[in-house]
Amino acid sequence: MKKTLISIVCPVYNEEDMIQLFTSAVVPVLTQINQPYEILFINDGSDDKTLDELLKARQGYDNIRIISLSKNFGKEAALTAGLDHAKGDVIIPIDVDLQDPPDLIFEFIQHWEKGCDIVLAKRTDRSSDGYIKRVTAKWFYKLHNQISQIEIPDNVGDCRLITRKVLDAIKQLPENQRFMKGIFAWVGFKSAVVHYKRDYRKAGKTSFSGWRLWNFALDGITSFSTVPLRIWLYIGIIVALLSFVYGSFIIILTLFWGVKTPGFASLFTAVLFIGGIQLIGIGVLGEYIGRIYMESKRRPTYIIDKEH
Ligand code: UDP
Ligand code: MG
Repeated sequence: MKKTLISIVCPVYNEEDMIQLFTSAVVPVLTQINQPYEILFINDGSDDKTLDELLKARQGYDNIRIISLSKNFGKEAALTAGLDHAKGDVIIPIDVDLQDPPDLIFEFIQHWEKGCDIVLAKRTDRSSDGYIKRVTAKWFYKLHNQISQIEIPDNVGDCRLITRKVLDAIKQLPENQRFMKGIFAWVGFKSAVVHYKRDYRKAGKTSFSGWRLWNFALDGITSFSTVPLRIWLYIGIIVALLSFVYGSFIIILTLFWGVKTPGFASLFTAVLFIGGIQLIGIGVLGEYIGRIYMESKRRPTYIIDKEH
């Protein structure tokens, strides 16, 4: 086998307890693979001792690179920074919390040797994630895949292997609000899937609360689908048709039987209903316009403080 540089890309945010655990789990795997490697940590504006831990880890192991961002930009941006600065021929993004077992890297490399450009890691058992997270994730993938041009494979996170060719394709996507799962899927290429059981987080806690996940889901849907915008045309047509039918009914009723009652209830209900529908429509418009606005500023996705 020819020499191939493997880049492990690892975004970290307030993970002081995980750094040592992670490196001592990943390094033996990489050593066994017996190829040159680098582990690139992107310190995403951590405000605990993560950086100290990273610097300490680098003393123990060669091949560790550390890039600090100027503040917390969020996982998608940190991962983008990592992908932009990885030097490897094959690149493996992986979370630091060991929820995705490092042994997966063996299987990734095996598939890559057979000629795959992307190897995905699919969680067959997600019991380590709470019930609500599992159910909402399932709904999200279903909805997303129904209304988007791209298909995000079910239960696949960011942990995967991609080749340099795929990474070069990803780098061509210029958007600065980066929904990485969608971007990974959008570029295409031949992929293989390996299955695994998602583990519990070994230390520290998740940074994705319910509200952050909801916004993440909105990012995902608005990044790759315009269906929520276009659907209003059809809702409008249906409401207009219903109004026409009901209007005709009232006119006929009035013409033949005269005005009976003031019709307060139906009038009020119709006004509230149409008002509500319009506000939802405007809300959806607002979501997209907000995103167009942010994107049109052309701000960079992240700012690097320094490479240590
Ligand atoms: N992360 C990051 N920036 C953030 C939030 C998270 O770089 O603003 C990193 C975090 O350190 C971890 C990975 O992204 O390596 C996944 O985060 P987490 O485990 O909290 O997400 P979950 O697995 O719960 O979806
Ligand atoms: Mg995690």
